[in-house]
Amino acid sequence: MVSRVIPVEDFDLVIFGGTGDLARRKILPGLFRRFISEQMPGEARIIGAARSDLDSDGYRKMIRDAIAEFGGDEKENKDCLERFLAQLDYVPIDAKGEGGWKELAGLMREGRVHAFYFSVAPSLFGDLAERLHKHGLAHADSRIVVEKPFGRDLASAQELNDTLAQHFDESQIYRIDHYLGKETVQNLMAVRFGNVLFEPLWNNHYVDHIQITVAETVGVGGRGAYYDRSGAMRDMVQNHLMQLLCLIAMEPPSRFEADAVRDEKLKVIRALEPVPPHHIVRGQYDATADTASYRDDAEDPKSHTESFIALRTEISNWRWAGVPFYLRTGKRLKARASEIAVVFKDLGHSIFEGDTARHRNILLIRLQPNEGIDLQVTIKEPGPGGMRLVDVPLDLTFADALGEESEAIPDAYERLIMDVIRGNQTLFMRGDEVEAAWRWTDPIIDGWKQRGDVPKTYTTGSAGPEDALMLLHRDERRWLDIRG
Ligand code: NAD
Repeated sequence: MVSRVIPVEDFDLVIFGGTGDLARRKILPGLFRRFISEQMPGEARIIGAARSDLDSDGYRKMIRDAIAEFGGDEKENKDCLERFLAQLDYVPIDAKGEGGWKELAGLMREGRVHAFYFSVAPSLFGDLAERLHKHGLAHADSRIVVEKPFGRDLASAQELNDTLAQHFDESQIYRIDHYLGKETVQNLMAVRFGNVLFEPLWNNHYVDHIQITVAETVGVGGRGAYYDRSGAMRDMVQNHLMQLLCLIAMEPPSRFEADAVRDEKLKVIRALEPVPPHHIVRGQYDATADTASYRDDAEDPKSHTESFIALRTEISNWRWAGVPFYLRTGKRLKARASEIAVVFKDLGHSIFEGDTARHRNILLIRLQPNEGIDLQVTIKEPGPGGMRLVDVPLDLTFADALGEESEAIPDAYERLIMDVIRGNQTLFMRGDEVEAAWRWTDPIIDGWKQRGDVPKTYTTGSAGPEDALMLLHRDERRWLDIRG
């Protein structure tokens, strides 16, 4: 198969926070990969802007080091690296100050896309938007990209939306959720809407339940103080898990276009049932001989913030009424795995004598590791000895199905930044979606506060607190194993 990389139009991309962790670890190495793939035009410019007092040469050196540290095989491509670095510039700017803006405006060239990536704390978004406007950089061809967290509740998200809306139209605002940039997430839509097989089964007549798991093995580590003000509900459920749920549950949009897709996602969030306290389990990891407990990491021995959450919710519409959606996410779990399992109903009647096992078709969408899709089907166990049935995965792992082409799959950040340049908002969250998600999340978090809810401790390296298993046992179901 021939790889089809379509170059994007010329652009100037300014990365506020261009010296930060995210820029060095993800954004710049990702852009370098797009450069090697010849998707980034030779005239494009990337301008780092942050508080550090650097010049452009100093910045190029910083990014050369970052690519050496965080890049993959591509870092060996020395010739490309030099040409890529030559397209970088740097301007020292304090978002709250007036210095540097004129220099920045002077570097921007007319007649091309101007994208401004806000890779800084959200408390600076308003300052940046305001100064971009003041210095004539907020015009029809400019776009802003904003990182998570987008608010910590409905009120703060609304405030952030209002602040950005003072200077930018919604069509110019790209709220990143990098889960949406993953290849498998888009493949989920291709599988659902590009095949005749699945859509007829995608409803409460055939689907028993859906599980969404995002499990990590790491703890909160050095981010303890930040994380303790957030917790798994705000950090993971309100955005990443909710977005995955929307893509699984939404009605087919009339076209695969930004607003058509986002309208359907919004309807899903609005149809989510409130979650009663007995349908939610919170946890905190314990200490091991080698690793600290959550409370040690958070530096608050009395912290009530959760590092794990499991919940059961339902969607009140014709398609999904009565189908539970089980969501779980946590740190220091037994493996690193993100996946969505669509578990279909039992056959109801087996014609095979002696076959008492429960065979179920499961569509498993793996986001990491080994991005790909499995369809569990029941077949005859090969060989003599009668009709014995066995469940096997039909493996649609891209590396096997697509061979070398799968190696060119861009990572989430690369793809999303190229979408910003193309002006394609399909994989970005709209302001009303984010607000609707907080509207569902806020009462849950408020309820914990009012009841003085204390998270359960769970064993590091486990699948979370025992109560999370019970959440499904009560419904005579069980979680799929977390396998990395
Ligand atoms: P960081 O602390 O490593 O870097 C922050 C950057 O902002 C630095 O370049 C710093 O110079 C710059 N900065 C700070 N104050 C400034 C000011 N007043 N004016 C101009 N620049 C200023 O942070 P990070 O990890 O790179 O995260 C950046 C943003 O991305 C945050 O909103 C974070 O929540 C979000 N985010 C980060 C990650 C990640 O993996 N690091 C993942 C998802 C979201």
